[in-house]
Amino acid sequence: MNIAVLGAQWGDEGKGKVVDLLTPQFAVVARYQGGHNAGHTVYVDETKIILRLLPSGILHSHVTCAIGNGVVIDPQALFAEIEELGRLGYDVGSRLVISEKAHLILPYHRELDLLSEARRGERKIGTTSRGIGPAYEDKIGRRGIRVCDLADRTALEVEIRENVQARNRLIKESTLDWRPLFDQMLAYGERLKPWVADVSLFLARTSAAGRPILFEGAQGTLLDIDHGTYPFVTSSNSTIGGVCTGLGVSPKMIGGVLGVVKAYSTRVGEGPMPTELHGASGDRLRDGGKEFGSVTGRPRRCGWYDAVVVRYAARINGLDSVALTKLDVLDGLESINVCTGYRFGKDVVTEWPADLNVLAKSEPIYETLPGWSTPTSGVRRYEDLPREAQRYVAFLEEATGVPVSIVSTGSGRRDTIIREKSAAAAWFDAVTRP
Ligand code: GDP
Repeated sequence: MNIAVLGAQWGDEGKGKVVDLLTPQFAVVARYQGGHNAGHTVYVDETKIILRLLPSGILHSHVTCAIGNGVVIDPQALFAEIEELGRLGYDVGSRLVISEKAHLILPYHRELDLLSEARRGERKIGTTSRGIGPAYEDKIGRRGIRVCDLADRTALEVEIRENVQARNRLIKESTLDWRPLFDQMLAYGERLKPWVADVSLFLARTSAAGRPILFEGAQGTLLDIDHGTYPFVTSSNSTIGGVCTGLGVSPKMIGGVLGVVKAYSTRVGEGPMPTELHGASGDRLRDGGKEFGSVTGRPRRCGWYDAVVVRYAARINGLDSVALTKLDVLDGLESINVCTGYRFGKDVVTEWPADLNVLAKSEPIYETLPGWSTPTSGVRRYEDLPREAQRYVAFLEEATGVPVSIVSTGSGRRDTIIREKSAAAAWFDAVTRP
C-alpha cells in the first residue's frame, strides 16, 4: 500500500527519521512540494545526514526517489547534495527520477527573496532566503522555467533573456547578464538529463506493479500556503492535496496517511504560535530538543503541545495514525501542559481559526498532566515507558482522535517504539516485524 507521511504542526516534527524508519517497506519515496528549504535530519549510526531536496529514502540502496512537479529545484543545490551523499558513501546513480514539469530556482530568485524580506521590514515572513518563494511566484505568474525547458535551447534563450530583463527593471541596481546564466542552465540541463522523467507515469506504473510508494511531505500543515497561518507560510501545499497536484497521482493511490507530530510544539520564523513559551520553560525545550534549524541554524520557538493544531491537521489530511516524536525531550519535567482550546474574549475556540487576529488575542486553555522522572530516552517497548508517559500519549490520542502508532524516544533509528497493538492501519503490520 502507498502511504503519505507529512508534518502535522509547523514542520521540523522529525519526518526525516520516521520516513527513514519506514523506508525498508517501500520501493519508491517521492517528494511532492517545497525545495531545498526543507532540512530532514537522519542519524545513521553516529553519522548525521541532512537531506534538503532529495527524499530521505535515498539512504536505502533498494529505493528509487522521485522529485515531483510540485517541488522547485535549485540545480546547484541538488548537485551539491548528491556530491555530499557520494562522499558519505551513498550513490544516487540511477535511483532518482525528476519531473520534467518541476520548476527551477535561478540565481535571481535568491536575490529577489532577500529583497522582498528586506522590503517587508517588520512584517517579514522569516523565509530561508533560498529563492523558493520567488520561484513559486514565477510558476503561478506563468513565467517560470521548467526542467523540460532546459532541453529546448531556442525557447530557453528567450525565456531567460526576458526573465532577466524583467528582473533588471524591477531591481534598479541589478545589471545581471542573461548570457552566462543561459550557458549555466544549459550545462545544468545536460547534467540533469539522465534523471528527467514523467514522474506521474513512473509512479502510476510502480503502483500498478504492486511496488509500494511512500509520499514524503516537507514543512508542516500550519505552513501550507492555503491552510497555514497565512502569510507566515511556505509557498506550496504541504498538506495531503499536495501529493496529488505535486506528483500527478490520483487520490485513490494514497492508501493511508501518517502524521508526524512532536510531543510539544516548535516553529521557525514569524507568525502566530498560541502555546509559545518564553523564558526558562521555552529554553528548556529548545536546549533539550536541540531546536535549532537544520538548514539555517536559527533557534526555533518552543511551546506546549497544541491539540487544536493537531486536530486541524487530522481533519485536513485525514490522518489515520500519528508518529509521536521527541517524547524523551519531556523527560524530567514535573508537569506538562496540553492546549485543548483557546479562550477568545468570552468564547472558547476549539477549531483552528483563519483570522490571525483571533489567534493573537487568544489565550490557550491548558490541561496539566503529571510529568515523569524515569527517562524515556531510548525506550523501545511501550510497556517500558513510565506510567505518566503512557498517560500523556493516551491523553493526546483522546484530545485529537488519532491513534499513536509510533513513539520516537531518540534521534537514532533504534530509539523507536512501534505499537503493535495500536489502532494503526494494516500497512503498519509489516513495519512491526524486524
Ligand atoms: P524534519 O524536518 O521533520 O525531518 O525534522 P528535523 O530533521 O528538522 O528535526 C528533527 C530533529 O529531531 C532531528 O535532529 C532528529 O534527529 C531529531 N529527532 C527525531 N526524533 C527524535 C526523538 O524522538 N528524540 C530526539 N531527542 N530527537 C529526535
